[in-house]
Parts: sequence; C-alpha cells; structure tokens
Amino acid sequence: MVVKSLKTENYRNLENTVFYPAKGINVIYGSNAQGKTNLIECLWLFTGGRSFRGSKENELIAFGKNKADIELCFQTREREQTIRFGIQGGKRQPVLNDVPKSSLSQIVGSFCAVVFSPDHLTLIKNGPDERRNFIDGAICQIRPAYASLLSRYKKILSERNALLKDIPHHRELEDTLDIWNERLSVEGSDVAIQRIAYIKELMEPAISFYEGISSGKERLSLEYRMHYPANVNMSRDEIADVMLKTLRRKQNDDIYCGYTTTGIHRDDLMVKINDMEARSFGSQGQQRSAVLALKLAEAEQIGENRGENPVILLDDVLSELDNTRRNYLLKELSGMQIFITCCEPFVDAENIVHIENGKICC
Ligand code: ATP
Ligand code: MG
Repeated sequence: MVVKSLKTENYRNLENTVFYPAKGINVIYGSNAQGKTNLIECLWLFTGGRSFRGSKENELIAFGKNKADIELCFQTREREQTIRFGIQGGKRQPVLNDVPKSSLSQIVGSFCAVVFSPDHLTLIKNGPDERRNFIDGAICQIRPAYASLLSRYKKILSERNALLKDIPHHRELEDTLDIWNERLSVEGSDVAIQRIAYIKELMEPAISFYEGISSGKERLSLEYRMHYPANVNMSRDEIADVMLKTLRRKQNDDIYCGYTTTGIHRDDLMVKINDMEARSFGSQGQQRSAVLALKLAEAEQIGENRGENPVILLDDVLSELDNTRRNYLLKELSGMQIFITCCEPFVDAENIVHIENGKICC
C-alpha cells in the first residue's frame, strides 16, 4: 500500500497542505510544535481508527474554524483509491472512492497502516485498555467486520450499564437484565474468539522479532487473559456459556457498582519475557523491545492477511531507540512505505521534507 497524496484543509495547524510522498522512506523533520505529529495523526485517521493521541474529533479542526477537510489518495495492489473526510460537529463523515459512507466502520480495512509513537512505548507498562486497543485496532485492519462487532458489543454494554444505574430506583427493571446478559455474552464470546485467534497468529512473528532484537538471548510469549473462568482452548459456545454464568453471578455486584464488572472489556494481553510478566518485571529496554516486536509483528500480519504491506508511521520514535534497535527496525521494514518524523534528518531517505508552522517545504 502506498500513499500518493495527502491534502488537508483546516486540519489542526495544517491549514492548507498538499503532500506527495515517495514510495520508500519519507522523512518529515522540523522543530517542536510545527505539525509533524499532526501530519502522522492525519494519515492514521484514514484507517478509520480514532486519533492515537486520544483526541476528540472536534479538536482536529483548526482553531477558529468549524470544519476540516482531509483527503488521501493511495495505491493498493488492485487500484488507486481515495478517502475523504469532512470533520464537523464532533463527527468524521467518510467518503470512499466518491461514495459517502454512513459510519467509520465502513471504511475500516481500506487503507492499512501501523503507527508507532513514543506513547506506544508504554503499551506494556500501562493498563490493559491500551493492550486491548492494540489488539482490536490490529484485528480491524485485517478483518474489517470486527469493527462492527466491537461497536455492537460497546452499544450493548453501555445500554446494560445505563440499566444497572436505573435499577436501584426502579427495582422492577431487574427482570429485564438477563436479556442484556445474554446479548452481551453472545457478542462478547465472538470478540474473545477473534482476539484469541489473532494473538495465535501474532505470536510466531512477535517471538521471532523479539529474538532478533535481543540477539536470541531472551524469549517473548503472549497470552490472552480472560476476566471470567474461560480458557483459550474453549469453543465460542463454551466461552459464551461461561460469560453468561459470570454475568448472572456478578449481577448484584454490577447493580451495586452501576457498571458491568466482567466481560471482554476487562480482558488483557499478557506479554511475558522469559516467562515473567514484562509489565511488572521487564526493564524499560525489554518493554520497549517487546513493543517494537509487537508492532513489527502487526505489520507482518497485515501484509500476510491482505497480500500487501501496510504504510508505516513512525512518529518521533527513532530518536528514542538506540542504534541497534533503530537499524533493526528499518531493516525489517525495508520495502514498505515509511513516514518518519524527527527534529533533525538523520536517516537516509528517498524523500526529505521540512515542516514549519504547518507548511511542508522541500
Ligand atoms: P514535537 O516535535 O514537539 O512533537 P510536532 O511538530 O509534532 O512537535 P504537533 O504535535 O504536530 O507538533 O503540533 C503542532 C502545533 O499544532 C502545536 O503548536 C499545537 O498548538 C497546534 N495545534 C494542535 N491542535 C490544533 C488545532 N486544532 N488548530 C490549530 N493548531 C493546533
Ligand atoms: Mg510530535
């Protein structure tokens, strides 16, 4: 997959930008606060994912304006495609190849990218929600229907949570809770099965990348940990059954808390190095290497499943890595289109551009 052009109008400080990247490595350099991360974030939005900075949609619009327009033209194995977004009223309105789409999930899987920013270096160290987001985002790009499944689960979850908050004031509503228990366990078991399958696929490349980064001295392993008494060898129906029983068992706790205390929204990806949990026992360097291995494995999995490589977005991470890891990363990613942001252009590249105050100049 190759980005051919990016156009922005009133997107953050990229007020009026037209960028034609090269096929290989693109270096975008500039001082702090000039728009480098804005550019990477903008490219990432075309995957259909949320801003990796956790920004709200309205924050993407340039100060003082009420709408942003962004357009990406990219080449896939089959043909050239375009995605356009108007961002307005807290929403992104997608148009794929001139056809308006009603939701973001309908464009997920069209443009594939893997993003790696200093924030991702804490993927191992931080809480389970970041690791769940990592798995979910990665699955969405190779199995686009997963995005709709996830949003169905989230909708049922928020309706069940709203009901849990109402029950103490209207006890008669408690009888209706079991309908939501059943719906949640049906959709939830589907999500769990897809996550388990994806982690199995990711495991082999992640282990081999970690072995490469650590020069064969350490071994990485991955495990999907469920928040209910199920295991990864169970069938979808068995997991659904366990989930339903757990939801029923915890029903009183949930009413007391006012939210759903069990389910796939509490699951985690355990990352271990030499059989010890990296989050609690890994050094900072080991945790970084594990994230690097996961990201490389994610890119490889997209390549294998889609039959073409994703675009790689490296926001300010090269300067955070030592020379050995930096060279390893670039070697493993060679052949893919890469966008690298940095303050000084220290990498050989097909295209090196300078960004200043939201303006790109060669
Ligand atoms: P650094 O090297 O420090 O990471 P950067 O080049 O990556 O810097 P960005 O994070 O891209 O910088 O931000 C550039 C500028 O964009 C900041 O000065 C910020 O105030 C500005 N900015 C952020 N959101 C908006 C917005 N909605 N409208 C206009 N400008 C914005
Ligand atoms: Mg930045």
